[in-house]
Amino acid sequence: MELTQEQQFEIILKQLATIKERSPFYAKKLADFDLDQIKTLEDFRKLPFTDKGDLREAYPLGVAAVPSEKIVRIHSSSGTTGTPVIIPYTQKDVDDWAIQVARCYEFAGITPEDRIQITPGYGLWTAGIGFQLGCERLGAMAIPMGPGNTKKQLQMMEDLQSTVLCATSSYALLLAEEIEKQGVRDKLALKKGVIGSERWGKKMRRRISEELNVDLYDIYGLTEVYGPGIGINCKADSAMHIWSDFVFLEIVDPKTGDPVPDGEVGEIVLTTLQKEGAPLIRFRTHDLSRVVPGECECGSKHPRIDIITGRTDDMVKVKGVNMFPAQIEEIIAFTDGASSEYQVMIDHVDGRDIMTVFFETEAVGDACTTIEENMKLLFKGKLGMTPNPKGVPVGYLPRSEKKTKRIFDNRY
Ligand code: ZN
Repeated sequence: MELTQEQQFEIILKQLATIKERSPFYAKKLADFDLDQIKTLEDFRKLPFTDKGDLREAYPLGVAAVPSEKIVRIHSSSGTTGTPVIIPYTQKDVDDWAIQVARCYEFAGITPEDRIQITPGYGLWTAGIGFQLGCERLGAMAIPMGPGNTKKQLQMMEDLQSTVLCATSSYALLLAEEIEKQGVRDKLALKKGVIGSERWGKKMRRRISEELNVDLYDIYGLTEVYGPGIGINCKADSAMHIWSDFVFLEIVDPKTGDPVPDGEVGEIVLTTLQKEGAPLIRFRTHDLSRVVPGECECGSKHPRIDIITGRTDDMVKVKGVNMFPAQIEEIIAFTDGASSEYQVMIDHVDGRDIMTVFFETEAVGDACTTIEENMKLLFKGKLGMTPNPKGVPVGYLPRSEKKTKRIFDNRY
């Protein structure tokens, strides 16, 4: 169901009317705010953001807004450092999530006839189980592989004639390369790829799409807000529709917190409209994107955001120049002869920052040196700093089943 911003705001007001009673977490966080005084969106925008750190402090179940007996499940975000964040779900939350993922599949033209091979992990992480929920809701056949064991993945893909692959972009690439290597493409029935919300460039997208010979769809979501499935791109273009009946979307300037105009890049901030277990008000995702203005050709009125271009916390400053991974990626994509796989190492040697850009290429010797020189010039021209590009053979850089880390800041 598509909601207008006015309709969304009405739901927000209803949520706010009882949030302090339901949620000890928000009773404390919003103690200084008289929520009855919120009458307009501008008033709402004065409420503080909720950050992952707030949720972490509430570990283990402090964010719960329902009595314990209503919680049917928990998930946890993959905290690489420190205490994880635990999100409780009621049965309605689980059902709502299934509805959203099923809708994602439908937007991608997937039907009950399809066979969906699910390769992201199951367990505390929301990915695998979310893809599964939506698949069952839709009535398609789930093949719940989970991550790893590439040989078995390909065997099942062939034997069961999987038509849809759910994966992270890096694992989809790894599978594509393996399929190419084994020359088994003709034995497979893959038609579509639903790729988890990992930031990825156009070049990598094109490569996966070509090598697997499938249509690709980007699915968006995060553990704190259900999991994957709160939006997906439709057939019309590569922007993602975000489900307006489940989340209220804001794009803000990551530094000032002020809203940015439609079309400009900023941080995605989400407010849940239906969530019971752990409702969230103005949650900072740290994902960077922009609202795509205007109406989509497909006719859907759910608002659209562009592919995630980076993370606010991914920004690096080298030799005094701020840059986002998406900018680095764009320059590499723009360099003739460089493939989509790269890795950036930033070090501090003898009082100087050094940025080494490893990129995969089929070129060797002088041809490789020429590519490296061209890349240097492009960095200089676009970002105003010169890195140290280094071509390596295709397959040299690590691929992973989870999200691939590409930028390593070794200075601190
Ligand atoms: Zn559309």
